[in-house]
Amino acid sequence: TLTETITPNGEGTISTTHWDQDTKPIPRLQLVDEEQKFTDVLPKYMNQWGLGEAGFKYNVVAVFGSQSTGKSTLLNGLFGTSFDVMDETQRSQTTKGIWISRGRGMHVLVMDVEGTDGRERGEDQDFERKSALFSMATSEVIILNLWEHQVGLYQGANMGLLKTVFEVNLQLFQHNQSSKEKTLLLIVIRDHVGSTPLANLAKTLQNDLEKIWDGLSKPEGLENCKIHDYFDFMYTGLPHKILLPEKFNDEVANLRQRFNDPNHADFVFRPNYHKRIPADGYHVYASGIWDKILTNKDLDLPTQQELLAQYRCDEIAQVAFERFASQLQAFKQPILEKGQTIDDLGAQMTNLRKEAVDAFDKNASRYHQGVYQKKRLDMLTKLHTQLNVYFVGQLKNLHKKAISLFDATLKAELKKATYNFSQVVTDALRTAHDVFLTGAKEMILDDTDWSYTHELAILDEEFDQISTKARADEFKKMSKALSKQVENELADPISIALNDPQPTTWHKIIDAYKSTVENGQTTLIKKAKSFNSTDEEVEDSLLDLKREAWLVLRKKVDEELADTMLLLKLRSQFEEKFRYDDHGLPRVWKPEDDIDTYFKHARDDTLKLIPLFAKIDLKEDEGFDIESNEDFDFQQSLTILSEAKQIDLTNRFKRESDAFYLEAKRSVVATTAK
Ligand code: GDP
Ligand code: MG
Repeated sequence: TLTETITPNGEGTISTTHWDQDTKPIPRLQLVDEEQKFTDVLPKYMNQWGLGEAGFKYNVVAVFGSQSTGKSTLLNGLFGTSFDVMDETQRSQTTKGIWISRGRGMHVLVMDVEGTDGRERGEDQDFERKSALFSMATSEVIILNLWEHQVGLYQGANMGLLKTVFEVNLQLFQHNQSSKEKTLLLIVIRDHVGSTPLANLAKTLQNDLEKIWDGLSKPEGLENCKIHDYFDFMYTGLPHKILLPEKFNDEVANLRQRFNDPNHADFVFRPNYHKRIPADGYHVYASGIWDKILTNKDLDLPTQQELLAQYRCDEIAQVAFERFASQLQAFKQPILEKGQTIDDLGAQMTNLRKEAVDAFDKNASRYHQGVYQKKRLDMLTKLHTQLNVYFVGQLKNLHKKAISLFDATLKAELKKATYNFSQVVTDALRTAHDVFLTGAKEMILDDTDWSYTHELAILDEEFDQISTKARADEFKKMSKALSKQVENELADPISIALNDPQPTTWHKIIDAYKSTVENGQTTLIKKAKSFNSTDEEVEDSLLDLKREAWLVLRKKVDEELADTMLLLKLRSQFEEKFRYDDHGLPRVWKPEDDIDTYFKHARDDTLKLIPLFAKIDLKEDEGFDIESNEDFDFQQSLTILSEAKQIDLTNRFKRESDAFYLEAKRSVVATTAK
């Protein structure tokens, strides 16, 4: 089989099947059976006939007329169908119901109604009315079949049928008065002998039809409607099949052209007769109508078409959605379970959505436009809800990715020997921000209200926290390095100055402090640039540095002037003065030496050091000050030794020095004794 493809929203696809050439009988289907039950295998037959995907590219024709007027014979001749024909020799009955088949060589559904000759007996008028209603609701062209000799018999059986046809038609369209939907009545006069020209017969019939129409009781609002508002008419005659078989066949072949050749002047399937039921919805529509007829419910076609559209659009959407949902599963593991990101998720989502919508559009767009558009919006909403899960999921993953990228970049860069901190932060931030933004933007689908601004705001906040912390760490690192530097620079000068106590000792120490702070300041300002620090921050840090350095100084001074250290210093000063002469040579005491005076001088001089050590003296550094705060009191920090401490140390040193005095005295005695 050959399949012609068409664009979505087009008219449909027809499979060219062997029914177009073969002579094998075309399968027919009993659409409604003797028990008035509607078949459920029509879709199977539609496919078998190659019309399942036909969209609007098919036509429907039905036949009306009294029993045994050669209707089935005519249909078989016109359309190559295989409907049962009553066999006169066996007088066997045809099977009751509504039969359907496709025409050979044309995309036409042909319906044949089989009743019984029961009109006279009144038994089958019910089925006749039902089948007429059904045919009217589903067919574009109705062949009205009657004998020539029935023409003019206004009260004849066929006229009763026509009355039925007209009545049901009014019922079907009463709710849709504006619609210009029309049906073609093709009136075929059988056994047309020819003595009365067709035109005359047609005129007679047309008069009769209009009389019938006028006599109908019309529904409210339709009192003045005309027969031509609903019907177009065509008349044709056929010769006697039994008496003039060849002529009959020729005329049937001619008539066939009106069904088959769109360029024929009397082509019957004009587009405005089309019921616009897509082939894939034909079964639902037809069975729904039959159901309504059986239950005798209000039946109007526009409502039926809307119901059909709702039903079919839902079905079509469901199929498209299921496929979509299964394709969506591919995202589940990476995004929802593994926390990964898919680079072209947006593009993939767009594709999946398009595929689903296209699949929907292809079939659903043929249905009632209002319903279709609404269902399309519903479907989009549903698709977006599903897709949004992955949008939100990936957004979270992108967030995490950006954070860890930022974190890792910072760590790696700050490990390097040289770097500019704020540059490092700016670069890392830009990269991480870009990763998020690029990913997020890529995922925003058209026609959605999706947004990443909230997530981005949170992300920026986290970036801020991380860089603030990194900056604080960096500062700590720097301060630590500075303290170390200060400590290294201050230790020796302080130690030297205090071990050689002089009136200028504190001045020297303050000088060492100043130059240390100056060096620290240089380092600090260099670093501050790398931090992009504000002037205020630099000032604060500088003050911190001054205090820090001062505390280092104080600590070092405390160490140097701890009791034992201080006593040691006093002792060495004292020894220098008492035990060594002016030339630095050890004294050997002689009896005539005034040990007492030497001792007194040396001790008094040494004791003068205690008040020197006791307080940092700023005499030579007037105006030197470090701003105090609640943790740092500069003035208080100047005091090294309390009064009590000084007295204590004085006493302790005096006792220690007494030993030297005694030792000196003894050495004189010893020398003299020799
Ligand atoms: P239906 O009941 O209307 O479907 O009629 P059928 O097609 O079953 O035919 C009924 C009988 O009429 C059959 O015996 C046919 O041979 C015969 N018949 C069919 N066509 C014609 C025709 O054009 N003229 C006459 N006189 N008889 C016909
Ligand atoms: Mg028949």
